[in-house]
Amino acid sequence: MSAQSIQAVLLFGAPGVGKGTQGKALGCVPGFVHFSMGDAFRSLSPTSVLGKKAAEYTSRGELVPDETTIQLFHARLGELESRGVYRPDRDILALDGIPRSVRQVELLNEKVQTLAVVHLACTSGAAEAELISRLRKRALEQNRADDAREDVIRRRFEVYRAETAPVLERFPPEIVSTVDPIGTPAEVLMRVLAVVAPVQRAAMDARASSAA
Ligand code: ADP
Repeated sequence: MSAQSIQAVLLFGAPGVGKGTQGKALGCVPGFVHFSMGDAFRSLSPTSVLGKKAAEYTSRGELVPDETTIQLFHARLGELESRGVYRPDRDILALDGIPRSVRQVELLNEKVQTLAVVHLACTSGAAEAELISRLRKRALEQNRADDAREDVIRRRFEVYRAETAPVLERFPPEIVSTVDPIGTPAEVLMRVLAVVAPVQRAAMDARASSAA
């Protein structure tokens, strides 16, 4: 792939904020393809070398090492591309859970052009309580080990604050939009679309004029 051939919008925010829900919904809109790094790790066979290595970190609420994460990202994206699910010349990736550290931003920069960052951000204390309750509900619904334990949930929030939050500063402020994540999935999706639909339009226009 050529330099920065992957165009992406980044869904960014704390654990439980709804990146996955919004990513899945956005991925149903033609021209957007959802990519969840958490799902990529969960899809690994638990008996494979990589699966075992990833589980060591995910079960503690820690980040999987950056190089391993980026390698898996490119491998999975290559699979989506060869299956025709992702077409880099037409689609915009809706990235969910990657990049999650400053080093990952640097490693991705070579290939990924970030068109917009949607920061799903709670601004009040009440909202953070809502996040914790979403994680508890998800633990029951999806049988996710990393959501079931209070200490692991707490660790994920600490890791988010220390390692992931600084990622935001790596993007030009003009491409970062803060979106209120509280509401029904459809209400939040409308806010996300208000940010990304114009970005998709601009990308399509730019492609059309460079092809002309
Ligand atoms: P959440 O919904 O809490 O944000 P995810 O499903 O995105 O969680 O990720 C679950 C776990 O997978 C993370 O806690 C982390 O251990 C691992 N993980 C996901 N994405 C990354 C990443 N980009 N880098 C390192 N580890 C990751």
